[in-house]
Amino acid sequence: TLDHLVSDFYRYQDLLTPREAEQVGRIREMFETRVKPIANEYWARAEFPKQVIPWLAELGTLGPFVPEVRQFENSALYRGWVALEMGRVDASVATFVGVQSGLAMGAIHVGGSIQQQADLLPRMARGELLGAFGLTEPLSGSDSARGLRTTARREGDEWVLNGAKRWIGNATFSDVVVIFAKDEADGQVKGFVVPTDAAGFRADKIEDKIALRSVQNADITMVDVRVAESSRLPGIRSFKDVATVLRLTRCEVAWQAVGVAVGAWEAALAYAKERQQFGKPIASHQLIQDLLVRGLGNITASIAMCVRASQLQDQGLQADEHSALAKAFATARMRETVAHAREIMGGNGIVLDKGVARFFADAEAIYSYEGTREMNTLIVGRAITGQQAFV
Ligand code: FAD
Repeated sequence: TLDHLVSDFYRYQDLLTPREAEQVGRIREMFETRVKPIANEYWARAEFPKQVIPWLAELGTLGPFVPEVRQFENSALYRGWVALEMGRVDASVATFVGVQSGLAMGAIHVGGSIQQQADLLPRMARGELLGAFGLTEPLSGSDSARGLRTTARREGDEWVLNGAKRWIGNATFSDVVVIFAKDEADGQVKGFVVPTDAAGFRADKIEDKIALRSVQNADITMVDVRVAESSRLPGIRSFKDVATVLRLTRCEVAWQAVGVAVGAWEAALAYAKERQQFGKPIASHQLIQDLLVRGLGNITASIAMCVRASQLQDQGLQADEHSALAKAFATARMRETVAHAREIMGGNGIVLDKGVARFFADAEAIYSYEGTREMNTLIVGRAITGQQAFV
């Protein structure tokens, strides 16, 4: 049986099937015993602990939504809970999984031909082939639906790619990157699986980040990179298809954000019970209890929203605005919760080894990636008013 997290106040975990709960237990144990002890050290050195990749694959965390490669039939709720468990211990490793599994494998699952899926997805699920997702550019972040400058030109049986990408997670060590580019002929966004050793392709690590330091983000440049027509994902015909991938991953990022809030909150609760001031534990002060209870409320409300968004996904009823609202809400509540956790720790809240500082810093990146709060708000705003307010 799976122990209840003290932060799972309403026992949402009981919604998992016995098989799902068992697997969550394995993943939790792996993260607590093998990731937690090394997370701060790798974060401080801004290195990714690559030794975890085979374990992540063994535990079935890569591509669990793909019927052909998943280890067992599972629900979106299960996959969300796994994102929570990973975020609760190390948001950088959770982000690695989000990029490999949700974004790169997701793009191939949504847009790839049967042959591309059969060729790439099993190897990616086993962690033998690492992927990245190249959408954002130096001059186009929030407006990537219309503002991409990377171009694709068809020449016979080949495509020639030119342009730049920024922030591309895992791309410094991945084998392939799904690159989104505008077709010079029809102006539509298309997707290409580009090998990182292709001539003219370059990925440089972005240095000196203050959040998700273990995630290796790259600035990519492409000068006349040639790929075969067979590398084009035929199901990516416009930005709408990219949005389909993001709809699924945003919901998981919302879950991951809950995990980050949970990790910080649990550390702050333990500290509050232990730390004595004025002759008694700080947990006995009303103002500290207020911060802890507000954090618990944030976590509980966010999980409720994520649970329902995941159920809608399984029922085929999840729309872009459902995952956008979950992502915007859960990340905003995460940001408040980690700030309060930091506050409860006093000065110890800003040092890595006391257990909250890393969550506090990482929350800033999660708040902004996969659509900023503003962008996700405008997606929901458009759905409820019928008016698009992006431009
Ligand atoms: P901008 O788009 O320049 O926005 C700056 C600010 O302006 C934001 O607050 C934004 O909300 C606001 N803004 C913009 N337009 C409007 C508007 N119309 N109305 C109101 N406010 C507006 N991308 C990938 O493709 N692949 C990855 O693997 C990847 N990984 C990432 C990992 C990390 C750690 C980070 C930080 C980013 C990653 N990204 C990745 C990029 C991420 O998706 C972008 O940072 C995000 O979309 C925001 O784009 P931007 O940073 O260019 O900000």
